[in-house]
Amino acid sequence: MNHATGRTRHQERVWSVAEHLDDILAKIAPLEPIELQILEAQGCVLVEDITVPVSLPPFDNSSMDGYAVRAADVADATESAPAVLTVIGDVAAGSGELPEVGPGRAARIMTGAPLPPGAEAVVPVEWTDGGTGGGPAATMRAHSAAPEDAAGEVRVHRPAAAGAHIRARGSDVTEGEPALRAGTVLGPSQIGLLAAIGRGTVTVRPRPRVVVMSTGSELVPPGEALGPGQIHDSNSYQLTAAARAAGAIPYRVGAVADDAETLRSTLEDQLIRADILVTSGGVSVGAYDVVKETLTALSATEPDGSTLAGGAVEFRTLAMQPGKPQGFGLIGPDRTPLLALPGNPVSSYVSFELFVRPAIRALMGLPDVHRPTTPARCTEPIASSPRGKRQFLRGSYDADAGTVTPVGGAGSHLIKAMAHANALIVVPEETTEVAAGAEVDLVLLG
Ligand code: AMP
Ligand code: MG
Repeated sequence: MNHATGRTRHQERVWSVAEHLDDILAKIAPLEPIELQILEAQGCVLVEDITVPVSLPPFDNSSMDGYAVRAADVADATESAPAVLTVIGDVAAGSGELPEVGPGRAARIMTGAPLPPGAEAVVPVEWTDGGTGGGPAATMRAHSAAPEDAAGEVRVHRPAAAGAHIRARGSDVTEGEPALRAGTVLGPSQIGLLAAIGRGTVTVRPRPRVVVMSTGSELVPPGEALGPGQIHDSNSYQLTAAARAAGAIPYRVGAVADDAETLRSTLEDQLIRADILVTSGGVSVGAYDVVKETLTALSATEPDGSTLAGGAVEFRTLAMQPGKPQGFGLIGPDRTPLLALPGNPVSSYVSFELFVRPAIRALMGLPDVHRPTTPARCTEPIASSPRGKRQFLRGSYDADAGTVTPVGGAGSHLIKAMAHANALIVVPEETTEVAAGAEVDLVLLG
């Protein structure tokens, strides 16, 4: 394709939100799978079928604290005529050596402890007199020359059928059975299952490493005093947090000055650790909009030996508000996706939600890359939404009432309103006003 002509044509074209997103997703492939420690794999997509190597539970064990008995010994037990059994010892969880439970005998047993040989049922301690031996019996048994004499007794008041209060070997999962299928997203309980069956590592698509950098010579990090004309860099923090919330591993690069050479060398330095790059600012048509300047020049040059060459970043006008100017392309030898977002804080955050978050989730191979949406009744009228643009207003959604209330105005510098919103109110392209009580669609920010 002829980039020069393409660009001229594209500059005239106005992209819809959906077209821009589709283009991004069409050019992003899921990351190659790697083997990770199970905790590192949280939130990631499994790419292997996991088979159970050994049945769970691995052995019959007690589901209660009580006494392991032979069923026949307690079959006739009642409140008034309890079965009286000799307590031969204790079986705790983790016990390796187990006493043999012969006729007329019982072993005190704890939850999770292996069922000793000879025993067929567990009588919960609540169905007994609590025993006169148990722990002490076991202790005495260990130290006494005549253990049988020193052993305690337990009175059992109710019968217990064979298998009562026993968690049978393999009753959870059996050896050879599938535990988790490829494509499963690993949450806490899936990680718990992996650990239970003894898996320390799994093969998953990794979390993308997202490099976040803001641009602007006016930017000062929070914590430092502002000089004349300066503001704090909020975008790189907001976007880094958003990248982490989306499931990525974020790297925040401090603000880069509006200087083409600094921007270019910073990008080159960062490329090595990035699966995706996100910049904010410098994409409009102002005199110091260096991101657009630098990356447009980049796409115009054919491979020149620099690590950034070989890709192309295209700057577009979108039919949306906020977030009209957007840059997207693939740069460097690995054709790493780069999204250049506008600088106004609300614009950059809305752009992140609409484009970067889906891109991150596509890199992770997640089946659903989109935020949930819902209809809601708007409690207040929305006046003068721009015709021909999809507008994303900040809203406070009340799920119980099914209503949303706009927060702040349309201004893309209103950071506080953004911080008090939990949804984006979507006003479609051809809608110019919304009456109070009318239904609108929301993107839920969670
Ligand atoms: P720009 O797109 O670079 O022209 O920036 C648009 C507006 O957003 C300007 O008012 C900038 O000062 C502001 N802005 C740009 N980057 C940031 C940032 N990282 N944090 C806060 N405000 C920013
Ligand atoms: Mg700027």
